[in-house]
Amino acid sequence: SEGINIQEIAKQFHRDASEIIKKLLMLGVMANQNQALSKEVIELICVEYGVEPEEKHVIDVSDLNQYFEDARANRLEENLATRPPVVTIMGHVDHGKTTLLDQLRNTRVTEGEAGGITQHIGAYQVEANGKVITFLDTPGHAAFTTMRARGADVTDITIIVVAADDGVMPQIVEAINHAKAAEVPIIVAINKIDKPTANPDRVKQELTEHGIIPEDWGGEHIFVEISAKMNLNIDELLEMVLLVSEVEELKAEPNRMALGTVIEARLDTAQGATATLLVQDGTLNVGDPIVVGNTYGKVRTMVNDKGRRIKTAGPSAPVEITGLNDAPQAGDLFVVFEDEKTARQAGEERASKALELQRDSKKKVTLENLFDSI
Ligand code: GDP
Ligand code: MG
Repeated sequence: SEGINIQEIAKQFHRDASEIIKKLLMLGVMANQNQALSKEVIELICVEYGVEPEEKHVIDVSDLNQYFEDARANRLEENLATRPPVVTIMGHVDHGKTTLLDQLRNTRVTEGEAGGITQHIGAYQVEANGKVITFLDTPGHAAFTTMRARGADVTDITIIVVAADDGVMPQIVEAINHAKAAEVPIIVAINKIDKPTANPDRVKQELTEHGIIPEDWGGEHIFVEISAKMNLNIDELLEMVLLVSEVEELKAEPNRMALGTVIEARLDTAQGATATLLVQDGTLNVGDPIVVGNTYGKVRTMVNDKGRRIKTAGPSAPVEITGLNDAPQAGDLFVVFEDEKTARQAGEERASKALELQRDSKKKVTLENLFDSI
């Protein structure tokens, strides 16, 4: 690392040069952006960011999973801020997932935003007790399972909806197993309690057989009895989400360059590629050079879940963007780069590698072996 300067280091650590200069100042080292740094000073910086000096100075942009892991491992305590939880709703068909998502969307949108035309972008945010909650609005299990298969961890909390007049079905057991495997906390919403045939105790009994035991039965799982249709106990459900979220201590670094996951994407004849991104860390800005899966570009426009044009989006915010050279896939990771050239290089490299892989292998490329080889 002879002749390396602060700008280089800043790039490699994905930080502002000014932040590193400030850090060095506090350690009694004066440095300007373009000055070559001694090995000792570079080591000091590495230690500050919790990185083994010999280890990786250069983050390999061809592996976004690794990049993601590194970025999260190198988070600075002093830069962390609480972020909204990202919640998925799962359950058996007809048990009321869509009704619950619609009820939340129609009655709990952020007050200042009321009147905006709600956009269906695959995720939206509601407000409860002055706090924000992000809901993934993706149909059924598809998004959750695909994203998990691709190594994308987007969900912080799962609400499992079970109809009180029906009981535990195979799809619910499957949902429980997914959540357990992903170590995502589960909240059970026993739905349709307005129905005369509702039998919440039966649901509790059946879930107990799958290791989901209500608190009032000596277990550790939160159950809320709701009616999505009649808007009953929905506020209680949201309060429980906030409670679990607090216990989980969900944090992000709002001041870093954004990274996150694609919720959905499509090619639009008028707009070109559009993608809904969930910002998981940092802040995304219009104009940011970005690599998204095997695509790249510059964020041209950004629209929030209320259909409003916005310029910046912080942690846990879902946004629909344009400006990519092609449509990425749900579950792809995205990373913002300091300059367009690097983003383009990384994007092209990833695209050609994926293509090569597709040509090379006679067998169909599965999500798993695609990620193994990139
Ligand atoms: P999904 O397949 O899980 O998305 O289920 P839906 O939300 O489409 O609901 C299936 C049916 O159950 C619809 O006819 C809803 O109106 C009805 N439903 C949903 N929630 C409730 C509820 O709380 N009470 C009653 N009585 N019906 C409900
Ligand atoms: Mg539905």
